[in-house]
Amino acid sequence: MVLIPEEIVSQVIDRSDIVEIISSYIPLKRAGRNFKAACPFHNEKTPSFVVNPDKQIFHCFGCGVGGNVVSFVMKQDKMDFPEAIRMLAQKVNVVIEEVDEPTRRSTNERHLIFKINELAAEYFQDNLLSAKTKMASDARKYLKERNVDFGTVKSFKVGLAVDKWDGLLEYLKNKGVSLVLMEKAGLIIPRDNSRGYYDRFRNRIVFPIFDTRGNCRAFGARALDDNQAKYLNSPETIVYTKGHHLYGFHFAKDAITQEDAVIIVEGYLDCIMPHQFGVKNIVASLGTALTVEQIR
Ligand SMILES: [Zn+2]
Repeated sequence: MVLIPEEIVSQVIDRSDIVEIISSYIPLKRAGRNFKAACPFHNEKTPSFVVNPDKQIFHCFGCGVGGNVVSFVMKQDKMDFPEAIRMLAQKVNVVIEEVDEPTRRSTNERHLIFKINELAAEYFQDNLLSAKTKMASDARKYLKERNVDFGTVKSFKVGLAVDKWDGLLEYLKNKGVSLVLMEKAGLIIPRDNSRGYYDRFRNRIVFPIFDTRGNCRAFGARALDDNQAKYLNSPETIVYTKGHHLYGFHFAKDAITQEDAVIIVEGYLDCIMPHQFGVKNIVASLGTALTVEQIR
């Protein structure tokens, strides 16, 4: 069977502008923030077919059809999902390579890594919020001194990697996660001189990095002592490419659309703090120089 990788499907949908695509079939008229037309799927004189560019969806108040750009093309051109994606891909210049079994396996692996990262984020947050150790209280104090409030810690899932070589490793092992997958997720590192692995993140405040769909792709971490590099990120993995993601994008998406503007800052706290005080159209570049991918 030939599959289109999920990553490509998302890319095609992200790049396809629903207004542009639909208006190549039927004439759209602007109506406030939306666009209107006579519905192509039922007979009508007064236009009740509405396209919302902010949400990238359409809806007909006459016959009730609606959906995103892909559903429109499927319905309009009587295509199935893969056909619609292939057609749109051509319009927005995304190359679709035919997918074989190994690629399909790696798609499954990507899902597993999202899941493992989610578990890790829960573990880190639990360390921060409920642990009664001195380190946890130091970390809470650190955040408090920077005025990061509890709600913000919760919603950004800020956590703590304790000062242990196998804290996360043991936690994930108990959840049935294999060492191979932990390493592929970038969470553990093989020991140099002996067998086994150790935790990548230790003695640090941890900031999970989510994609626009809320999947946890990687972690950024800030040291709590001065004996190690101040900032440490996940390495490149099959779900994380440096310079391709923006910290806080998941939380900022709606505000960016509303404000029609985005503020880009460098660090995690630079992003979190304004957000906490109501400036929500803000993202961080994750310490790298701003890349074309991020801007796009
Ligand atoms: Zn209709």
